Parts: sequence; structure tokens; C-alpha cells
Amino acid sequence: MTIGILGGGQLGRMLALAGFPLGLRFKVLDPANDAVAGQVAPILNEDINDVPALGWFAKGLDAVTYEWENVPVASARFIEERVPVFPSPRALEIAGDRWNEKSFFRDCGVPTPNFWPLSTREELESAVRESGFPCVLKTRRFGYDGKGQCVLRSPADVPRAWAELGGAALLLEAFVAFEREVSILSVRAKTGEVRFYPLIQNHHRGGILRLSLAPAPGSSDQLQSDAQSYALRLMEQLDYVGVMALELFQIGEELLANEIAPRVHNSGHWTIEGSATSQFENHIRAVAGLPLGSPQMRTKCAAMVNLIGELPPLERVLSIEGAHAHYYGKEIKPGRKVGHVTVVASDEAELLRRVDQVQLLLTPDEHR
Ligand code: AMP
Repeated sequence: MTIGILGGGQLGRMLALAGFPLGLRFKVLDPANDAVAGQVAPILNEDINDVPALGWFAKGLDAVTYEWENVPVASARFIEERVPVFPSPRALEIAGDRWNEKSFFRDCGVPTPNFWPLSTREELESAVRESGFPCVLKTRRFGYDGKGQCVLRSPADVPRAWAELGGAALLLEAFVAFEREVSILSVRAKTGEVRFYPLIQNHHRGGILRLSLAPAPGSSDQLQSDAQSYALRLMEQLDYVGVMALELFQIGEELLANEIAPRVHNSGHWTIEGSATSQFENHIRAVAGLPLGSPQMRTKCAAMVNLIGELPPLERVLSIEGAHAHYYGKEIKPGRKVGHVTVVASDEAELLRRVDQVQLLLTPDEHR
């Protein structure tokens, strides 16, 4: 069986690496000739909007999946006429537009911050009057790692935000004074069988994920079960196949949905060493129509430290007890995710000590 992957970054690479032991083959589509999945699987370097290229790509494939949520829906639908695409292009359509996404949460009864779609300066003024300050203005499409958004704290910020983002289709959101950010990863098979990973606590800096802790320290069974029921509603409504990440804000015991990623997710990279079946293997199993594996943790707790714009000396990382290095083979550029380190431990205090040891190998922000 050969599976096509749209997008050849580190997620595509880790998907292929998880699928090889199952005897599966992969083919990757990415316009960049240095896309790192190309180091482990055959790659076709063509534009994802190029219809003839999509036709060649689809030839001989048994299923297609994607690692990039901005895959154009039209391209995914074109491929779907030839080869099954999982998750379905409908998931892309929802996740690729913040208004579609938040409306979908609301329709499914999943709590989310209040939001107002807008495209003119007048509509911005009127949405701000309704939301009050602070609030967050975001582009509806192509936002990632905190790009395409700005926080408005007072009326003086309105012209600045408009100058920055005006012109695109926008969404204004109420600002959530959350206690922490968490995510839940779930996987659904073609049979409708669903498995959930434990809630993960995520720390961002400069809009980029830096650290994930699993299970999210101190989270109650109720919180886990609420997150699961929200993810389940969304997946069932989409007849979803594969791994889905749901990112949430936690305020006390309440969860508000921020966004979904219709793919494997950075906050789940620790599952390679930390779970009986990684998110990557479970995604591939779902796409290939195979039985799902247990998401049960293999250790008491695990963490993931992202390596952004630098790779510490491998010898130093590997000499930390319980640390596992993943260097993606990418060219190092400022702000770019070039690797991650998973840390496992048998208790939380030990885990945090080991995470500290990894972080000490990274350049502090003030020296960048
Ligand atoms: P997003 O691109 O929507 O995931 O947003 C990036 C980050 O901005 C989130 O991880 C939060 O830290 C922050 N953020 C996004 N939306 C809100 C909001 N409505 N209230 C407060 N913080 C937010």
C-alpha cells in the first residue's frame, strides 16, 4: 500500500517514519526541493495548485493524507476524485478559515470565545463596541504561530490593528484571560472507533509552541472527559478519519475551543517515545484502514521541548537521562522549528528537572 502525503515538512517525515515498520510506502508532494520528508521518502516537487501535477501525484496511490492545513480545498477535492483523502477535504475547509471553524464549534455545541466576522473598518468599530477591550483581531485564513493577529487593548489600538491586518477577511475575538493552554489529540478510524491521548499543557512564547507537558499537570478526570466529548462531537460531525488536535483555553474547570488542526500536531510529538502508539502511527493506521493502537502512556509523564532556530550539541542532549533527540534535517533559520527533544520520566518533579537541563542548552531569548 502506498500513501501520499501533501506537504513534506517534519510532520510528513515523522508520518513516513512511523509507517515504514508497517510495510507501507509513501510519496510526498511539496514544492520545496529541500523539504525534509524528501530525505526519507520519494518526493514530487510541484506546486500544490498545479492540477496536472496533482494528477501525476495521485497515480498509483491507495490513499492520500496531508500534513499542512493550508492545503487548498480545491486541490484536495481534485485528488479525492481519484484517490480517497483522509481526513476529508471538509476538515480542511473548516480548519482553514477561523470563521468557519468557530461557527462549526458553535454548531456542535463546543464552547468557544465570542467572535465577529468582519471585512471593513466600520465593521471592526462595531465589533469592538460589542466585544469591548481587550480583544484579538485575526485574519480568517493563513494564520499560524501567532502570525496574522493582534491584541487590541484600547481604542487607540484600533487604527494600528486595521493598518496591520485590514484588507483581508478578518475575525474579532473576545480576549480570553486563560490560566493555561491545553490540547487534546484524538484519532478516529474509518469504522468510527475513537481513541484519545491525555490532555497536554502547552507553553508558547512569541506565538510559537516551546514546551508541551503530558499529561497536563493537575488536570481532573472531568477536564479530560470534557475535552474528549468536544473532540468527539467535532470528529463525528466531520466523519473524521485520522488524528485531530483540538487546542483549548482553560479557565478554572472550563474549556474554550481555540482551534483544530486536521493533522498530527506539534503538541503530540512526545507520543513517539511516551505512548504505546504514537500520534504518527495512529494517523497512518487510520488512513490505511488498519486497527488503531493504544494511546496509553508508556511512562508516567513526558514533555516535548521544541528546538527553534538552533540545534544544541547532540552529545549534550543525549547525555540527559530520559531525553530523545529529533533533529529534522532542516536548514537552521531564526524562528524555524528545526527539531524537538522528548523527555520522559517516572514522576513530574524529575520530568521538570530534565526539561530544565534541555532548556539550559538553548540560547536564552535575550541573547538571540
Ligand atoms: P491562534 O493562532 O489562534 O492559535 O493563536 C495563537 C496564540 O494567541 C494562542 O495560542 C494564544 O496564546 C493566543 N490567543 C489566540 N486567541 C486568543 C484569545 N481569543 N484570547 C487570548 N489569547 C489568544
